Amino acid sequence: MPSIDLHCHSLYSDGSQSPQQLVALAAAAGVTVLALTDHDSVQGLAEARAAGQELGVCIINGVEISAIWNQQLIHIVGLNIDPENPLLTEGLAEQAQARAKRGRMIADKLVALGMEDCWTAVLAMVEGDENRVGRAHFARYLVESGKVNQMQRAFDKYLGTGKPASVPMPWADMVTALGWIKAAGGVAVLAHPARYDMSQTKLRALLAAFRAGGGEAMEVNTANERPNIIQNLALLAQRFELYASQGSDYHGVSMPWIKLGRFAELPANCQPVWQKFMPDLTAA
Ligand code: AMP
Ligand code: MN
Ligand code: MN
Ligand code: MN
Repeated sequence: MPSIDLHCHSLYSDGSQSPQQLVALAAAAGVTVLALTDHDSVQGLAEARAAGQELGVCIINGVEISAIWNQQLIHIVGLNIDPENPLLTEGLAEQAQARAKRGRMIADKLVALGMEDCWTAVLAMVEGDENRVGRAHFARYLVESGKVNQMQRAFDKYLGTGKPASVPMPWADMVTALGWIKAAGGVAVLAHPARYDMSQTKLRALLAAFRAGGGEAMEVNTANERPNIIQNLALLAQRFELYASQGSDYHGVSMPWIKLGRFAELPANCQPVWQKFMPDLTAA
């Protein structure tokens, strides 16, 4: 089982556990290197680091930035970033403001559909901090209030693009987001490339643009990915000379089938991304 997990979420975004709880779970699962990568937030990193020191888990400072390429939403994981870099923190502050505004707009739409208590319920999930509100919180509300029977249905019926409670977002464009990660001294990793619903041709165009914009790596292994998809991603990483990353994308209770540190090993033709910031580490 891999002991390096470079993608997970705490309750500083749409995960259900505190960084402290997450690190304790990681330690229990045998994860020795963990990157906390909350959506557009670095707020949990100090707490994760403190817990890591106590529990013997090496914490990598991470973030997962929402960005737009070619009018399409993509996610970029920044690894080994300086969370205090002003360009990064100012960029993330803007994203958080947009997130808070969108949260209220989604709530208004759901209220109009008869769900009066949705904003209160969602705010309770994020300790009252509207900057953290994401679509996953609304999806959880829709499941918990019995409007749909699973998260996926919440996106299909209400929250997905073009659905009644969808609100378009002014996320940073890809090159801008790559610039924030670079400025913060981090390595930019294209998150879960197989989840963008893109043709191979379009995915190749994205990878070329990502690399040209300063991206250095892509995720090859994420939880529950089929072996043929992993092989394809490994070949793409090789072709575009990108380092390969791996991570569970653990969120906690909302996706109980995903566990920290539980995914396949990187294929042999990959250059592991952690060579960039932990050159002495050989174990996968
Ligand atoms: P946001 O950044 O607020 O737009 O929310 C994106 C997050 O919503 C993702 O990171 C996932 O956690 C969650 N998400 C997106 N699509 C789905 C889906 N189809 N099923 C379950 N969760 C999803
Ligand atoms: Mn998420
Ligand atoms: Mn993502
Ligand atoms: Mn994620």
